[in-house]
This record gives sequence, C-alpha cells and structure tokens, in this order.
Amino acid sequence: MDICIIGGGLSGLSAAYALRDKSNITVLEKKNKTGGCLSSSKAGKGYIEDFYHHCFSGDTNLFELAESLGIIGELEWLSGSTGYYVNNKIYPLTTPLEILKYPYLSVKDKIKLGILTLHSKKYDVNGLDDISAKDFIVEKCGISVYESFFEPLLNSKFGDIRGSVSAAWLISRIAIRSDRKISGEKLGYFRNGYNSLTEKLTQKLKDSGCIIETGNAAEKIIHTDSGWEVNGTHYDAVLSTINPSYLEDIGGPKIGDIPYQGAACMTIGLKREVTEGIYWLNMKDKAPYGAVIGHTNFVPQERYNEHIVYLASYFTGIPPEGLEKAMIDDFSSRFKVRRDEINWYRLNIDESAGPVYVKGYKKLIPEYEKDDLFLAGMFSLPNYPERSMEGSIVAGKHAASEIIRKYNL
Ligand SMILES: Cc1cc2nc3c(=O)[nH]c(=O)nc-3n(C[C@H](O)[C@H](O)[C@H](O)COP(=O)(O)OP(=O)(O)OC[C@H]3O[C@@H](n4cnc5c(N)ncnc54)[C@H](O)[C@@H]3O)c2cc1C
Repeated sequence: MDICIIGGGLSGLSAAYALRDKSNITVLEKKNKTGGCLSSSKAGKGYIEDFYHHCFSGDTNLFELAESLGIIGELEWLSGSTGYYVNNKIYPLTTPLEILKYPYLSVKDKIKLGILTLHSKKYDVNGLDDISAKDFIVEKCGISVYESFFEPLLNSKFGDIRGSVSAAWLISRIAIRSDRKISGEKLGYFRNGYNSLTEKLTQKLKDSGCIIETGNAAEKIIHTDSGWEVNGTHYDAVLSTINPSYLEDIGGPKIGDIPYQGAACMTIGLKREVTEGIYWLNMKDKAPYGAVIGHTNFVPQERYNEHIVYLASYFTGIPPEGLEKAMIDDFSSRFKVRRDEINWYRLNIDESAGPVYVKGYKKLIPEYEKDDLFLAGMFSLPNYPERSMEGSIVAGKHAASEIIRKYNL
C-alpha cells in the first residue's frame, strides 16, 4: 500500500515511524529540512533549534521515541528560571523570595495567584473552553493580577490576539508549570539539541525504506476512486499534517476554520549574557517581541562558545514589515548591547506555527479522518489545549493507528 504523508514535522515523521514496516511511505516536506517547528540550524560546533524548545516530565511518548532512536541517554533535566521585564528593569520571579519581592503585585494578589496555581490541576479544562483567559483571571484574581502577571505571558505567546485566548489554554499552562521546586522548574533538553531527535528519526525512516522528499511541497491533491493523487502521483491513502486551511487551498476537504498564528523568532549569538541569568523573560514593557529567552541560561553556554538568546514574537497573517530591524534595534538599545557584541543573528519565520486556542476552540478540532484523508497535527486533540512535541507525536501515532485499522495493515 502506498501512503503519502504531507509535512515532515513531528506529526508526519511519527506517523511514518509507526507505519514504516507496514506500507510504502513517501513524506513530502515543503522546506529543505525535516523537523517543522522543531527544525534546527547550525550554531558553533553543533545545532540550535530555530524555535526555542524544552520538554516536560510527562512527555512519555517523546521519551519512548527517544528510547527507540537510542538517544534517551542524551536527555537532561535543566533548571529553567523565569522573570519579568517591567519599566526597563528585570525582575527574577523563580523562587518564592523573588516572587515576594516583586513590586508589581500586592501581597493579596500574590496569595490569590498562589491559590490559583495550587488549584490549577483540579480544573476541568473542557469547562473553561468557552471562557476567555482574561475574564477567568479577572474573576478569580482581579485585574491587577491579570495586567501585571498574566497579560505579559499571554502577550509573549499570542501577541495582539491575546484577548481572544481561552481560559482552557491558560489554566493548562499554569498546571503544567506548577510542578516546580523552590529553586525553579526542571525542563528537559537533549544534550546535542532536539536536532538529534529529528535527524535520527529522519535517518531511521530512510533506512527503513521511507522516501523523504524535502524541498517538495504538496501543491495539488485530487480525490480519486482508489485514493488520492498528490502532485500527479497516485497514493492509496494520504495523511496531512499541515494547517487545514493550506490543505483546502491545494484541493483537500474543508476541515473547519481553525485559527492559526505565525511565529517570528530571532536567534542571536552574543559575546555576553544579557538577561541577568534568567532563562525565560516575559516583556511587560512594549517591545517588538513578547519574551527574551536566554537559551544559554538554560543549556550550558560552553556548548556553543557564545551566549544565545531568542526573541520571541507571534503574528497573524503575514509578519509585520521591518520586523527584523525593529527586533534587533530594540534589543540592542534596551539591553545596551553594542553591535560588536553581537556575533550573528537570524530571524526564523513560520507562518503556521500553531493554532490559536480561542474561546470555543475545542469544537473545531477535526477527527483523524475526513473524506478518506487522514489528519494529524498541531490541530489534533492531543495538542489541545496547547500544542507540544508530545501532542504532535501522539497525534501522528493515532492517525497511523487509524490507517492500520482501516486498511488491515
Ligand atoms: C516557537 C515555538 C516554540 C515551541 N516550543 C515548544 C516547546 O518548548 N515544547 C514543546 O513540547 N513544543 C513546543 N512547540 C510546539 C512543537 O514544536 C510542535 O507541536 C510540533 O513540532 C509540531 O509538529 P507538527 O508536525 O504537528 O507540525 P509542523 O512542525 O508545523 O510540521 C508541519 C510540516 O509541514 C510542512 N508543510 C507545510 N505545507 C506543506 C505542503 N504543502 N507540502 C509539504 N509540506 C508542507 C511544514 O514545512 C512543516 O515542516 C513550539 C512551537 C513553536 C512554533
């Protein structure tokens, strides 16, 4: 049986991995490398993710995949500290003492925030899908907690559309981040970067006979009596992992109006450290980026022989004009970094970097099959209410199981 998988990100590669011994697989990937949102580029002697990544202790399918690829020994648990940038100053917010000292929340607000965090795992996220994150926080904790604490966080993830995000997304984020010790949170990273995972997975698929065509986008798909034609080639089944609206544009069925956003992420190699030891710095002050991620305050700097930060921003539609210059200029002046202290910088853009978990999003989630076409991706149920590596691996595996079941493979 011939199967075409559209998209060489984690969903597509995981599905191919589950199907590799059962059928002839062709993966079509638009970009010139696999990995999708998890792709990497060369940095120093190794690789750095194009978009910042870490994993969580509950990511069991990710760990199983890493085990099967022989790289589980490379997984390490590192401390991820957080902070806020307010009124031109950095405030660390990792330890209880730092939180107590933070001047933009009253003691009463801090208590309300603490109670919300403690109860976060008890909420039924399904029941929060129709409520906006803002309304929910204002009701539970008051407007000052929303403005001083949650708005910068929502801004760093969703930019200008932060007001439409559901409470389901927010509470699940709080719950996943509430497993922290006094010294902060432990987050997972592979010693040689997530490039190890995407490279090993791609290589193992090729070794099993899968055809992986990078730089080859699916441009036209046609439903036939015996399956689908993709770019003029017949396949018995197709699994699409791309943004459903892109799929519709190339001839696929209408899946529903799942809102997507793009990510514009600048990676900067530096001669010195700039975020005062903090890994994740949310910007409360207005800037052309919502967070500064001190990668080498998480992963040891010696691995790169330089300091690396990401500037994270999200957009809807197309990226704002002049964004690259606006980002680097703002960063240099705000953090007082001279141009000769910047070794290099690169802006990575993904126009389809994930769904926006707006109010009522859950009703939009498609099934794994529609009109003989299989679907798995950031829009699938395992990626609700937040997309993740784990969610995409599970989605890819689920879609593969559906194919195996339907065709008795
Ligand atoms: C900025 C950012 C930070 C993130 N951080 C984390 C994190 O810290 N931890 C975590 O767990 N997750 C994180 N994620 C989420 C995680 O990266 C994704 O959930 C996962 O990688 C998505 O995989 P996917 O295959 O579902 O989608 P994608 O990675 O989007 O893969 C889809 C692929 O389809 C390709 N494509 C598109 N159109 C076509 C076409 N017509 N023909 C062929 N190919 C096409 C695309 O190029 C892409 O490679 C982050 C994502 C982003 C954007």
